[in-house]
Amino acid sequence: MSQPLLQIEKVTKIYGGGFLKRGPVTVALQNLNLTIPQKPAEIITIAGESGSGKTTLANLVLGFITPTSGHIRYLGQDVAQMDKEELKKYRREVQAVFQDPYAVYNPFYRVKHVFDLAIKNFNLARNRREARDQIEEALAVVGMRGEEVLEKYPHQLSGGQRQRIMIARAYLLKPRLIVADEPVSMVDASLRAMILDIMLRLRDEYGISFLYITHDLSTAYQIGDKIYLLYQGTVAERGDTVEVIDHPKHPYVQLLIDSIPVPDPTIRWGSRATTIDDEEMRVSVESGCRFYPRCDQRMDRCLESHPPLYQVGPGEHQAACFLYEDQPLAQVPEDNLAKERIPAAD
Ligand code: ADP
Ligand code: MG
Repeated sequence: MSQPLLQIEKVTKIYGGGFLKRGPVTVALQNLNLTIPQKPAEIITIAGESGSGKTTLANLVLGFITPTSGHIRYLGQDVAQMDKEELKKYRREVQAVFQDPYAVYNPFYRVKHVFDLAIKNFNLARNRREARDQIEEALAVVGMRGEEVLEKYPHQLSGGQRQRIMIARAYLLKPRLIVADEPVSMVDASLRAMILDIMLRLRDEYGISFLYITHDLSTAYQIGDKIYLLYQGTVAERGDTVEVIDHPKHPYVQLLIDSIPVPDPTIRWGSRATTIDDEEMRVSVESGCRFYPRCDQRMDRCLESHPPLYQVGPGEHQAACFLYEDQPLAQVPEDNLAKERIPAAD
């Protein structure tokens, strides 16, 4: 069997704490396992409320921060152990698209600067002609032409244009994975559809996988192959997107989906789903289920240990809830540690 493209293995990220450090300790991500195969390319949604650990996961995968424990492997190799050359290849093949594209631009440079820099940093072209051809090809993928945008300054473009250019820049590097952290949450509905469409095309025509991070279930329903629902840094439920959203099993995920007024996934998730910010409710439960304080089906045993993932439906539909403890435990083939099962909080 070939190596997965990306393998996140029992990754925990804790902020704060440590020797001689004061201040609060936040377990931003706890014991996360996630595998992206090399083929076929997939869009994997990471969904959850504000503070659930989504950006932490993005930053870990992009190598901006390192795990407190656990491993992130790319084509079998631990990112933390890569040498300079390997890291350069990784930084080319794993690209980022962020929520606010304006923040990524230098306002004093014309748009073409972002492309020129990428071409220079990664030695993509032998001469100007080649560079120009590559830039045009990348812009064409997002439905733009060089003459329309390259000589402009970032503030002269709309938010949607800036975001499409960021996707073109990512495409230019011929990545195998794009980490997109809330890429459409700041653009309006028509542009949102266009950008989601571009993501689908990149997946289908160019074999690029996505970690698509969002707090909006409706877009996940539209484009996501798999979904991971995070609650305070832990996976509450995961599986095929349509299966999970149509048949949610975890009380938290049921709450989110049931409280959408009509069972219409095109309605923006979060509008009425919950008024409590995850951040405010963050509990320092070291063991036990993080959702306990809000759960309408809680049991005493939920305080004893963190529930592991149980198999709750077809495919790899799994939920971390003791309501399903009669079901088989989810196998965790991705970390080859199935026999160890998923331990309680570290
Ligand atoms: P999301 O993107 O889902 O809103 P984040 O990953 O940004 O969530 O944050 C997860 C948790 O980690 C939050 O409680 C947040 O306050 C905390 N956190 C994030 N970044 C830092 C940091 N650099 N230092 C301390 N705490 C952080
Ligand atoms: Mg975030």
